[in-house]
Amino acid sequence: MRAAILRGKEDVAVLDVPVPAPGPGEVVLSIDAALTCGTDAKVFRRGYHARMLRPPCAIGHEYAGTVAAAGAGVSRFREGDRVVGANSAPCGACPWCRKGRESLCDDLLFVNGAFAERLLVPARVVERNLHPLPPGCDPWRAAAVEPIACVLKGIEAAAPEAGERVLVLGSGSIALFFASELRARGVECVVLCRSGTAAATARAMGAASSVVPLQGEDLRDALRAAGEFDVVVEAAGAAETTEAAPALARKGGRVLLFGGCAADVRVSVDPSRLHYEEISVLSSFHHTPRHVRAALDAVASGRIDPRPVTEEPVGLDGLAAALRGMCARTIRGKVPVDPKR
Ligand SMILES: [Zn+2]
Ligand SMILES: [Zn+2]
Repeated sequence: MRAAILRGKEDVAVLDVPVPAPGPGEVVLSIDAALTCGTDAKVFRRGYHARMLRPPCAIGHEYAGTVAAAGAGVSRFREGDRVVGANSAPCGACPWCRKGRESLCDDLLFVNGAFAERLLVPARVVERNLHPLPPGCDPWRAAAVEPIACVLKGIEAAAPEAGERVLVLGSGSIALFFASELRARGVECVVLCRSGTAAATARAMGAASSVVPLQGEDLRDALRAAGEFDVVVEAAGAAETTEAAPALARKGGRVLLFGGCAADVRVSVDPSRLHYEEISVLSSFHHTPRHVRAALDAVASGRIDPRPVTEEPVGLDGLAAALRGMCARTIRGKVPVDPKR
């Protein structure tokens, strides 16, 4: 079968690899839909991922597919079932899992390799994070379940209420999923974007308004006319927005660090303002099985429609160019990758 293999820095090749066979508890999917995400572009640029990927390795972690083969002991799925899965599964046994904080699992097991004709899903993911597609749910929408699960977990952490105002810093698909879900909850959301095109997509996805700062403009100046914010979500994973976020929250507000910064990033904070104005800094990483199920409900019911953030589809052979375009920011949204093309 054909599979996209990361071989190193900015090097992804489509290679012929053996078709996987499912062991006990495992299933092999024929991939119907896979989406790129910001993490894929980051991995392509760096040539590895500290926690998940050492080249040469298969990549791609947002997927929906059809069960092509089920291993011994798999009772929930059989050949021909259409399913969607998350990109990981927690162990269920460590202290963090037992507290319900599965995103902190000491033994989180990751799945990669969705940019391929077939994907082997490990037994733990089959058991805890693989779900049948609800009737009528398009696999291309379902493939966005993983990033949406992360967003739902982030929103739970920041707990915005109807009537509050949320500012989202970032114009990637994650920022725009925040806008959709917040609108569905009756929470006004303003998105700070990098470009006019992103600003228009933000409004299409549910943002009440969007702000595009001028080149080099201080974010506080850019947002001066936008009013005060109860919650500020940093969804760009950048030093500048991480440093600015607490200053953009109103007295008593919450800051949610959602986009992960690189390990060497350092920012300065104003602890006196955090203290005297009671500004809380929260963070959210990854998702839990509960949030994956909620995300599938959100896409299946149409509450979150990922289509406005998706680009023109490509086949496996178009993946490297798509990742290059994402790194160069000429491609802004998620690229649908269809291994059957
Ligand atoms: Zn992702
Ligand atoms: Zn665990």
